[in-house]
Order: sequence, then structure tokens, then C-alpha cells
Amino acid sequence: MSKTKLKSALTLSFERLPLRTRHPFGISYGTISDSDNILVTLHFQGLTGLGEASPTKYHNESLATACAVLKQWQEDEEILGGDPFAIEAIMNRLDKSLAGNFAAKAAIEMALHDLMGKLVGQPTFKMLGLAGLKAPMTDFTIGIDSLDMVEKKTVEALCAGYKILKVKQGTAYDREIIKRVRKEAPDIPLRVDANGGWTPKQAVSMAHFLFEHNVEFIEQPLPKWAPVEDFSYVRQHSPLPIFADESVCRSSDVARLQGAIDGVVVKLAKHGGLLEALKVIHTARAHNLQLMFGCMIESSLGVTAAAHLSSLVDYLDLDGHLLLAADPFEGAIYKDGYLELPARPGLGVIPAAKA
Ligand SMILES: [Mg+2]
Repeated sequence: MSKTKLKSALTLSFERLPLRTRHPFGISYGTISDSDNILVTLHFQGLTGLGEASPTKYHNESLATACAVLKQWQEDEEILGGDPFAIEAIMNRLDKSLAGNFAAKAAIEMALHDLMGKLVGQPTFKMLGLAGLKAPMTDFTIGIDSLDMVEKKTVEALCAGYKILKVKQGTAYDREIIKRVRKEAPDIPLRVDANGGWTPKQAVSMAHFLFEHNVEFIEQPLPKWAPVEDFSYVRQHSPLPIFADESVCRSSDVARLQGAIDGVVVKLAKHGGLLEALKVIHTARAHNLQLMFGCMIESSLGVTAAAHLSSLVDYLDLDGHLLLAADPFEGAIYKDGYLELPARPGLGVIPAAKA
């Protein structure tokens, strides 16, 4: 190649970030105990910006695909350029080079926001003009498991002091799961995520059952590619608000589903970074929709990046790091239901102290 290396270019390195959950984590797509995430580091003028990729197969990504695209961008001497403040322009170049691959793109964008804050000496939420706002409490997720384990996990969550629970559904025994959770936690605020595990008729029937068990709302009752009319049918017949998660990847999906849902779940890994997440948030607000910020199985690095935007939403589901057996990073700290953002510059994430 005859390209000349830019003198003060951003350079990229990445490595595997294997994570293990405390308990096997079951959702309607399957159960995992490990998440093969990737730590992305951008280097610029002696500073480093950190980001985390959390690729999942239900968004058509894997460790292999994410590593392949990161390698491609690592070897492209011009794609990142030499200005970490040019985030929108950099992300446009990445989008032009490859469609999709949003988890890998999200990791790069997290690292850029981290670098930008470190260069200026300010935390990311302040760089985005979000000082002075208060984020809602986060929930803690109970994954699909045997009924006895669901009950045990509920007791553990209550003992750990979690104030709101989210329960995964999409099994042949969904009602029994809710009854077991409610047996241990009769009054705790509860929300439900079916991860696309129901038909429209099942969703309506479950919605009435969940309403009777004092559930707040239902996330992704129908499969990712379910037609808008199916969401509309469920919404019309459900006594509970219906949120779309997997069905909303881009801000254009919000416009597509408007009128057929009550809310949208925002996630950095599926949108491709903070900027598209902001577009999704503002598009949803323009359509009078509610918002929840969620995450994948992620360390405190990915979760903290999301937490910097969390004051813009109504509900928080930022518990990926709380589900881990060991968290390699320290960032936003869980305290009495809330995530406390670090005061350090950028994302404010540092390696966890060795136990
Ligand atoms: Mg979800």
C-alpha cells in the first residue's frame, strides 16, 4: 500500500474480554454462562480510550465477526483519522466501509467518547450536556431457569438489595415463573422481557395474566421481525404497555413501529454507539414513546458508557456487570438502586482492583 500513515493518527488495538456470569443466564434464545466480549483501545497522543464490544448472534454478530471487522479497521490507515472529536465523521466512515456490525462500532464509539473526555478533562455525560439530570433506578434481571432456581435467584436479588426486578419469559411455564417470583417478592416493581418468545395471541393472554400480577410493562413480546400489525394487535388488546427491543435497531425502526408500541429499549451494542442511541431516544420522544436503557452481558466498561446517557430515559435495565462472577472494570457503582457515575474524565472506567 502506498498510503502514508497520518502523523497523529488514532490507532486501534483490541483483545478478547471473556466474561463469566454468576449463574447460567437464560433467555428465550438460549442459556449462556460466558460472553465473549472484546476490549477495544484507541491510542492518541499518549492517552487511551476504552470501549467494549458485546456481539450476540441474535443481532447477527459473533466474536469472530467482530474481531474480523476490528482487524479490517485496524489495518486501514486512514479510516479513524487523527481527530477524536470528529466522532460523527469517523462513524460515518465506518458505516460506509461495512454495514451492520453494530457491537464493534459501539466499542469504537465508546472509546472515542472516552478519549474526548480525557483530552478535555471532563466526564462523558458532561461533554454531552447532560449534567444536572437524574437517572431512574436500575432493575436486576432474573434469567430463565428451573422454578426452584428462579425462586432462589429472587431471594438472592432481594438479599442483595435490588429494588426492581426484570423477569425473562418465553418458556412453556411462564406463569409459574411469575408466581414463584411474586411468592418471594409480592410488592417489588416487576417488568417482563419475552425476547420474542410469544405469538400475538399468547402475548395478549400473558399480558392479562401479568397485569393481574402487578407487572409494569412487557418488553419484546413478539419476534424481532414480527410485522407492525402484530405489534399493533398486541398493543390494542394488552392492559400493559408494550416495549420493543430487538425490533428497534436504528432510529428509522422507531418511526416504523410508532403507533404499535408504547416504548423502546435503547442499547449501545445494537445501535452502534452513543450517537445513534441519542437519535433513537429523540425519535422515540418525538413519537411520545417511553424509553428504557438496556445492555447485554457486559462488564462495567460497556454498562458505564450506557449509564452516561441514562438520565434521558424513564427506566433502566443496566445490570450486565451485576450479573457477572467477576467484573474486570470499575465504573458506575450500584448504590441503593441507582448507578452512580464516576467523576473521572471520559467514561471514567478503570481496571478493577485485584481481589
Ligand atoms: Mg430485552
